[in-house]
Amino acid sequence: MGRDLPWRRTRDPYAIWISEIMLQQTQVKTVLPYYQRWLAALPTIADLAAAELEAVLKLWEGLGYYTRARNLHKAAQAIVKEHGGVFSETAQQLQALPGIGRSTAGAIASSAFGRCEAILDANVRRVLGRLFAVDDQPTQAAAKLWNLSQRLVDPEAPHNFNQALMDLGATVCTANSPKCLLCPWQADCLGRRSGDPTRFPVRPARAVRSKITGVSVVIERQGKFLLIRRPEQGLLAGLWEFPFVELACGGEPEEIVRIAFGNRLESLERLGRVEHEFTHRHLTAQVLRAQWIAAPAALPKVFDCREHTWQPPECWLEFPMPGYVHKTCKLLQ
Ligand code: SF4
Repeated sequence: MGRDLPWRRTRDPYAIWISEIMLQQTQVKTVLPYYQRWLAALPTIADLAAAELEAVLKLWEGLGYYTRARNLHKAAQAIVKEHGGVFSETAQQLQALPGIGRSTAGAIASSAFGRCEAILDANVRRVLGRLFAVDDQPTQAAAKLWNLSQRLVDPEAPHNFNQALMDLGATVCTANSPKCLLCPWQADCLGRRSGDPTRFPVRPARAVRSKITGVSVVIERQGKFLLIRRPEQGLLAGLWEFPFVELACGGEPEEIVRIAFGNRLESLERLGRVEHEFTHRHLTAQVLRAQWIAAPAALPKVFDCREHTWQPPECWLEFPMPGYVHKTCKLLQ
């Protein structure tokens, strides 16, 4: 009996697609409330295509890897504009859309359309890597594992087979302590026979997180606070934050803020520090509070090319903000 998950109770390619994208690098229990909320707000692909990007990012807020949400929006607009809102049925065609990789395409094609397509997410990679004791380096192993996945998928029931494989990886063949005695493949598993199945497949070397250090300045003017929109490209693209000044070469936060803002600020006060982990980066932000004493639009050059707004705290929630900014808001309370 597989796990009872809401995206398994439907054959709607749109709902399956949303779940597959949300589940990338994110646990099922985290995804569940986001999935329900998303489908309540945007029940069809036409609703997603017609939505403002800002509203889409707001629905995604807290899930991280925001490029996923931006690609969902782009792909929905392409499907509506170029294909009348109808999903392609083959994995190959699906892969032409932004943000849909081979495994996601295989999952949509097999689950929504009953196509005999393979998948290779982290769970499936682990199960097959152990079952066949694949010990090649990750780049060489990928082709081998795709081949195995495609050979094994049941043409009569590709959806059930793929979902069962994922469940096996998520619940039995887990990363650090596989429960081999409960596994239906225990008799044939080469990894198990080797005595240490966790050696397979070879894991990619863990990337070292680079550090971002800076100052977040919470600036008030007559009860409203300055919010700046991040650029459309790069880390946290398009999200809103308090002005952030990176400390490239060290220095005291107050000094850096004075250099960045000149004589526009007064009453600088330290509120504390925020730490946040991104996929490949670790952010440390000193948080300062200050009063704005210049004309409201007289932003320093570094910020004046960006969209900005002055908002009271009760309106902040209307703006999509990254997790580290929510931590900053907590320091203010
Ligand atoms: Fe994984 Fe053990 Fe099953 Fe092999 S026998 S697939 S290592 S759980």
